[in-house]
Amino acid sequence: MALIILAVCVLGLIQRYTLTERKRETVKEANILATFAQGAVMEEKEAIAFLPETYSDTAGKRIMLLDKDGRVVLDTGDAAQKGKIMAAPYVLEAVSGKNTVFETETDGLHYLQAAVPVYSGHAIVGALCFKASTEDLYDYFDHIRFRLLVISICGSLLIGLFGVFISALFTKPISKVTGQIKEMSETDTRHLVHVRGGNEITELVSAFNLMVERINDIDARRQEFVSNASHELKTPLSSIKLICDSLLQNPETDRETVNEFLGDMNEQVDRLTRIVNKLLSLTKLDSSVEESEIFTFSTVNIGLLMQNVVKALLPLAQSKNIMIETRLDENVFLRVDADKIWEAVYNILDNSIKYTPEDGRVYAELYRDEKNVYITVSDSGIGMAETEINKIFDRFYRVDKARARETGGTGLGLSIALSAVELHGGYIEVESREEEGSLFRIVLPVTTDL
Ligand code: ADP
Repeated sequence: MALIILAVCVLGLIQRYTLTERKRETVKEANILATFAQGAVMEEKEAIAFLPETYSDTAGKRIMLLDKDGRVVLDTGDAAQKGKIMAAPYVLEAVSGKNTVFETETDGLHYLQAAVPVYSGHAIVGALCFKASTEDLYDYFDHIRFRLLVISICGSLLIGLFGVFISALFTKPISKVTGQIKEMSETDTRHLVHVRGGNEITELVSAFNLMVERINDIDARRQEFVSNASHELKTPLSSIKLICDSLLQNPETDRETVNEFLGDMNEQVDRLTRIVNKLLSLTKLDSSVEESEIFTFSTVNIGLLMQNVVKALLPLAQSKNIMIETRLDENVFLRVDADKIWEAVYNILDNSIKYTPEDGRVYAELYRDEKNVYITVSDSGIGMAETEINKIFDRFYRVDKARARETGGTGLGLSIALSAVELHGGYIEVESREEEGSLFRIVLPVTTDL
């Protein structure tokens, strides 16, 4: 449409410009002829003797010479007109000293007609009417019109093709993403979408890919978690099953052995209970993140909370002859969920005792600065390699599985601690060296206004 409108405008402009130019030339030619014609009007016919041949009607031009009364003195188109009176307005205007030029159409042919005065000195002695064909111009206009039409059609086709190409370029990635979203909602498959380029669409696609990666990651972690949890639960269950089978198959077993078996079974049940309780804690923490479950916040004296944790773990420490030293600022108050922070500190202190050999030393400290509250627990225990530090917060991860089982470890304590601390906007730092000891630092922001 735009191209066609443009073509029509261009054609109109060319026509107007060309016709104006031709009108100017026609008036100019008429005026030149008029200077030759003055003698003819004054009866000196030789002066325009050349006119009939040059300006015959067959050349597309016609000259009519009139005296100042409008009587035809010469007509190169029709000699019979001579002597007749012409009183057309343009003749009258020419006799009164005005140049006129206008377009006319005869038998479907186009002409320009000019009428100019004929002077003798300063006096007007007649008028000269000059008629010239403009068919050559109209042929030229037809030619241009045809060209513009061809250009418009070719241009429209090109623009159309280009448009189809561009829209395909933009819509292809979108339909890829839409297809992928449909597939994701109908099946379990989640693929990344690959597109090239650097526009908003590719940004959208990369955001989508990020989301897919994240979902895949969560899915993989969930699967790993379920398989780890089943595995952890299966081990004590198999032990219990084994003990039960052996007792059932040997009804004559003596009391002492039965008691020993029951003791073992009890241990396995304790272990199962520990794992299930920790799994429940984790599930609760997870749902706190996902469903923004209401925390039970209260202003807590953190020093007091830590003292209680130490008290709860004292029997375990004493059983290994481990000294727990404390240095606790008693004026640190924070708005926290006391149970969750209690569990986090408990798990970390419990680990320090568990992973410190007999006669070792555990040190708990509490201090604060303007921004944060710091709870550090350090020990002179077995420590761990630097490469392990990043992994110990993963669910069910234990550096030494056999040793952890001995100590009753589930591999869940630290993930629970981290989730609890993160829910309060904090984080946990770890420093550790093998055979030297470890330091865990819980950092909680003072403005815990959750
Ligand atoms: P677990 O129930 O096995 O203690 P955690 O999640 O609490 O599980 O800890 C994960 C692993 O991190 C432990 O199995 C242990 O290998 C390592 N770990 C944690 N605390 C300490 C520590 N104070 N000293 C050495 N190793 C530790």
